Amino acid sequence: MTSSRLARTSAVSLIASAALVLSACSDSSTPDSEASTGGTEGDPLKIVTTVAPITSITASIAGDRGTITGLVPEGTNSHTFDPPPSAAAVLSEADVVFINGLKLEEPTKDLAEANMADGATLIEIGTNVLPESDYIYDFSFPEEEGKPNPHLWTDPTYAIKYGEVIRATLTEADPEGQETYQENYDTFEAQTTELARALESDQESIPDGNKELLTYHDAYAYFAKTYGWTVIGAIQPKNFEDPTPREVAALIDQVKAENVPVIFGSEVFPSDVLEEVGNATGARYEDTLRDDDLPGEPGDPQHSWAGLMRYDYVTMIEGLGGTAPELEALDLTSAVPDGAEYPQ
Ligand SMILES: [Zn+2]
Repeated sequence: MTSSRLARTSAVSLIASAALVLSACSDSSTPDSEASTGGTEGDPLKIVTTVAPITSITASIAGDRGTITGLVPEGTNSHTFDPPPSAAAVLSEADVVFINGLKLEEPTKDLAEANMADGATLIEIGTNVLPESDYIYDFSFPEEEGKPNPHLWTDPTYAIKYGEVIRATLTEADPEGQETYQENYDTFEAQTTELARALESDQESIPDGNKELLTYHDAYAYFAKTYGWTVIGAIQPKNFEDPTPREVAALIDQVKAENVPVIFGSEVFPSDVLEEVGNATGARYEDTLRDDDLPGEPGDPQHSWAGLMRYDYVTMIEGLGGTAPELEALDLTSAVPDGAEYPQ
């Protein structure tokens, strides 16, 4: 794995990185606090991100022009995540901070605003790409709570828009990198479009066009709207606790009434409720959707936004009785090495 990653790094960029390290060393008399921000001296941009899918998309665009630190550990509940005090120091050194926005990471946003340096940029990507008229409020995100469903990244058409915001932001912070960011964005856009095409083709194999989702975590609202799926419901209550016995009873009635064949749980939110509902109704349950937890380990080719989405789409399509040969056949190898820090 290491050798193939190295092979994809061009000799030119290796030499360039070595030169950067050398110039950084020769500058060691300059105290860190006086180091310039904004990458103007050719230093890599310091980029901080939140959830792993956003970290991965950012890495695809930034390439080797930025160091990227994700803040939300994979497999944790990003909706209730409270950053540790140590995140304040990381944020204080950032040139650019990307969060999803749409009220997903309010404690992290507050910490960023309190600690970021003057001139550093905080971008709420989702809030940027989604007009308020397109906000979806639904099962776990009811309108009266004032937090729209924030999961735009499970929809490839929005992931491309995320890439575009990231490209534009990095270009503004580091104009010398313009060509690199554009090239990396073009590659990301092409690979994501291919993923979307494979999804559209494979989802046709689901018997009777039954593209219906009953999920535990409510992460597919925008995806469903774009690709013609129906979200029958999401089990997780708005407080992200397990549902109450009364809610489970109502759910069992709904699953029976609508003849739901399969319930999709989440690795991030394991719950005994699925088994209970499955036993009471005869519905199968798949508890392996991953939401924002990338497959494999950091450094693996499938440990990426695209790897995550392929995994989730294949799980849904096969769970509903279809087949996913085109998704399985995709080569998702990233065009640029992903050296981002993904806390586990
Ligand atoms: Zn989520």
